Amino acid sequence: MTLTHNLGFPRIGQRRELKKALESFWKGEIDESTLRETGRALRAKHWQIQQAAGLDLIPVGDFSYYDQMLDMSALLGAIPARYGFAYGTVDFATYFAMARGDAAQPALEMTKWFDTNYHYLVPEFTAETRFQLSSTALFEAVAEAQALGVQPKPVLIGPLTYLWLGKERAAQAERAENHPPAVAGCGHSHAAPRVHAAGFDRLSLLDRLLPVYAEILARLKAQGVNWVQMDEPALVLDLPAEWLGALDRIYAALATADAPRILLTTYFGSVAEIAGQLKRLPVAGLHLDLVRASGQLEAFLADYPADKVLSLGVVDGRNVWRADLDAALSTLEAVRAVLGERLWIAPSCSLLHVPMDLEEESGLDPELKSWLAFAVQKLDEVKILGTALDHGRESVAEPLAAARAARQGRRNSTRIHNPAVSARVAALTPGDDQRRSAFPQRQAAQRERFGLPLFPTTTIGSFPQTDAIRRARLQFRKGMIEAAAYEQAMQGEIEYAVRRQEALGLDVLVHGEAERNDMVEYFGEQLEGFSFTRHAWVQSYGSRCVKPPIIFGDVSRPRPMTVSWTRYAQSLTERPMKGMLTGPVTILQWSFVRDDQPRAETALQIALAIRDEVRDLERAGIGIIQIDEPAYREGLPLRKKDWEDYLAWASRSFRIAASGVDDATQIHTHMCYSEFNDILPAIAAMDADVITIETSRSQMELLDAFGQFDYPNEIGPGVYDIHSPRVPATEEMIALLEKASRVVPPERLWVNPDCGLKTRKWEEVEPALRNMVDAARALRAST
Ligand code: GLN
Ligand code: ZN
Repeated sequence: MTLTHNLGFPRIGQRRELKKALESFWKGEIDESTLRETGRALRAKHWQIQQAAGLDLIPVGDFSYYDQMLDMSALLGAIPARYGFAYGTVDFATYFAMARGDAAQPALEMTKWFDTNYHYLVPEFTAETRFQLSSTALFEAVAEAQALGVQPKPVLIGPLTYLWLGKERAAQAERAENHPPAVAGCGHSHAAPRVHAAGFDRLSLLDRLLPVYAEILARLKAQGVNWVQMDEPALVLDLPAEWLGALDRIYAALATADAPRILLTTYFGSVAEIAGQLKRLPVAGLHLDLVRASGQLEAFLADYPADKVLSLGVVDGRNVWRADLDAALSTLEAVRAVLGERLWIAPSCSLLHVPMDLEEESGLDPELKSWLAFAVQKLDEVKILGTALDHGRESVAEPLAAARAARQGRRNSTRIHNPAVSARVAALTPGDDQRRSAFPQRQAAQRERFGLPLFPTTTIGSFPQTDAIRRARLQFRKGMIEAAAYEQAMQGEIEYAVRRQEALGLDVLVHGEAERNDMVEYFGEQLEGFSFTRHAWVQSYGSRCVKPPIIFGDVSRPRPMTVSWTRYAQSLTERPMKGMLTGPVTILQWSFVRDDQPRAETALQIALAIRDEVRDLERAGIGIIQIDEPAYREGLPLRKKDWEDYLAWASRSFRIAASGVDDATQIHTHMCYSEFNDILPAIAAMDADVITIETSRSQMELLDAFGQFDYPNEIGPGVYDIHSPRVPATEEMIALLEKASRVVPPERLWVNPDCGLKTRKWEEVEPALRNMVDAARALRAST
């Protein structure tokens, strides 16, 4: 019999039960036992769903009250000293202090999990870090599952990945420095953690770490566990040789008679280059992601060791499309002929990254729905494949035919293919991604047109999203107020924002984005080729979930999306009004993307739609247009060798969106949290007239790279941190701008906050911006 299993299940709950329970707990509305009861019920329900799907091994330990990396830190007792944890079991107070910060301590840093939109809490190590078993949650979950008749396969993050994704910190710094709480939402990077000048290498902690892993494994074995899933996704990255070398040592220490059998699990990329090494490891099995890297199979199939199982991930755990079961079966049948029952079947990776159950989407168009598979449906796909292998394709003829018909229907659907769009992409000429003139001419034309002072001031786009704004949007959505009333309400908000900005003395104004729920959803809703779900939530971090739009077909823009709001805003003022758009790479990055054409192709289609909007704004008299690309850096592939290709199509997509305008129209772009050192040429290649970036938290350090590289266009390095309610003093911002002026010539500097202001209150924003304008004026006077 072919063994079928799953690597991880969504934990937030179909109706976001966990989110609601967590937030009530944090507000003090429910007690700890009620929260734990919600967790227990969700685990039981999710195991039962997986068992009903007929899977043989069910992941346990994939549930978490916040994040699986945080759970590992708790299990291993890797609790930074500042949380005051001494010995015993990590309680909720410590656990949530690490996750979210508390009155005394900031949270652990948070960053993106590989190239997903999920964020994990970064383990923090000092040279003194000691590990000790400090949580019983995993063992309790195993017992819980066993009591329910579930065959548990505990999931652990492997030691190599756990250490790799952590970061070193000097012991002094840990005590003294008060680093700002991590905030997610904008472009955290998934790139390899920087080695901090902490005076030690976290790999050296391995000898202290391994005994605790061994202890965990021994306890699981004593509980009757047969298989443990050790996730080592770091193996798909560019790892230094000494890290790869450590792999042998790790698994020699762990894969012993005292431990359950270990399934070493890789995903999100290929491990073909280290196939030989992996095959020699003493573990009992390997898992490969054949969706992201189908080509790696060959390297493993040749002389695959007789003592190991090979688990193949053939159902996409990262996207929402129904699998091509026929193609998957062809692959699996060939492997089965070689490996027999040592072949296992699974999704490519944990299903954490897809929504839970498609059946809940009653409002979705039936045709589109027939093309999709969420977590629950993906389990069925895995099971169908297993049955086909064991009992022949005939035994599952019906579901195979249904899957085939759905795929065929999708391939031929007129809703996917828009000949006008493909024709337009095909007709693109080399000149279409180039502005009419080089930057110096454009700069001259723009200077003449706008006559802005030195150190011009502006903001990044959004102003506070007040309760009144949210209420109006919700009422409109629910049909409780008419379009006219809604429009009037939004115009009122725009007028308010414009008057405030004028009073503050800002040079380039924005309309404030009151009408936008989300910077991607707002555009997706107005573009053809996008669809939206009602309950298809995916965890972003902790209790935060997102509902990414689904790009199912050729993208086009039936009508202008922002022009009327922007034109209205411009009508209220003499000052230049900056139009505000989201860029093609960011729209792509924060959606579920079609899998029947390259991402680059979809990005081009979105770029053309944005290009039309840019030109319509220009035609409506808007002279400055910002195209936000906060997700530009996080789109970088996991392996450096793939960067060049990505950066080429990403920057071209941006230029296509931006290049349809006159020299005197000024194009801005915005990126937040980005580290640019290694991609500055590609940023320069976007050729935006002005780029605004986040720099205040790094004290302008990030700007150094721009100076060294001699970045040619204008730059607005953020001078105040919008993630904090603190109002920065004028002097602080003057100091930052003086620092910036030493790196970038003052004639090319703009003055702005780090990011949009939608999460702030007007009471914070107004004094901060007043001080910012004063800082710019002071610099003008002294330059
Ligand atoms: N224009 C957007 C805003 O101000 C930019 C948001 C972002 O960078 N994530 O809200
Ligand atoms: Zn931003």
